[in-house]
Amino acid sequence: MTFTTRFAPSPTGPLHLGHAYSAALAYDMAQAQGGQFLLRIEDIDQSRARPRWEAQIYRDLAWLGLSWPEPVMRQSDRFAHYQQTLDRLWHQGLLYACTCNRRDILAATAAPQEGAEPPIGPDGIIYPGTCRHAGHARDAGALRLDMSKALQWLGYPPLSFFEDGIGPENETGEIAVQPAYLTRHVGDVVLARRDMGTSYHLAVVLDDAAQSVSHVVRGRDLFEATYIHRLLQALLDLPVPRYHHHRLIRDDAGKRLAKRDDARAIALYRENGVSPEDLRAMVGL
Ligand code: GLU
Repeated sequence: MTFTTRFAPSPTGPLHLGHAYSAALAYDMAQAQGGQFLLRIEDIDQSRARPRWEAQIYRDLAWLGLSWPEPVMRQSDRFAHYQQTLDRLWHQGLLYACTCNRRDILAATAAPQEGAEPPIGPDGIIYPGTCRHAGHARDAGALRLDMSKALQWLGYPPLSFFEDGIGPENETGEIAVQPAYLTRHVGDVVLARRDMGTSYHLAVVLDDAAQSVSHVVRGRDLFEATYIHRLLQALLDLPVPRYHHHRLIRDDAGKRLAKRDDARAIALYRENGVSPEDLRAMVGL
């Protein structure tokens, strides 16, 4: 199997130093192994994706010296494929439609003490299960995975993934994905948002498999999401890549960079005469 890495940005704003680090690291790893580096445009959120940001992604990465095979996979071309997978899970009885909005979820989340924070998992607030047995029609809302049923369907298999990098709590090597962690700390994740027809988690596992990605290189903020991805790979019979979660590039105050941190946009450095080599050095490559 060819050593294959990928960079999978969402075209919802300018790429910043953190993206430069992630993309260049994935590219360098593929180069070092004589493998291939792929680019994938994660534009399932059509309300936020913009052609101008996509065009700028190509420009920024090419300026950094990266290259990738064409055509580039775009998630917006794959909604039919996501739908087929959802059909299968729906017919297996592993999904249910959920009509709750954020406020409903907060209200239903039992907070033992006044003012206590609701439990948060890798997919946000852990869903309290309000709609699990409501029997809503499929198109009534978002589609959630019934986590307990999914584990039961799989027969509670021992699941794990390989972490070649390092997680937020120094996790590395073979990482076990315990059923109890999935039911208690992840819960019934959304696999298709009402307005979107898919979700990040579903699309990312299907596409990493479709592109035969062997090594997923991405920021440490997505380490916990990998538990969800591993479960979905088991449910959907997909190959399991190795993972390399890398450190996050922070601003001077130690805060993680976000898309709105335009001041650290690659394009701005470029316009100000910074060279690609300088930029690589700035992020420690
Ligand atoms: N599209 C995601 C992002 O922009 C990255 C997903 C991934 O690398 O798994 O953060």
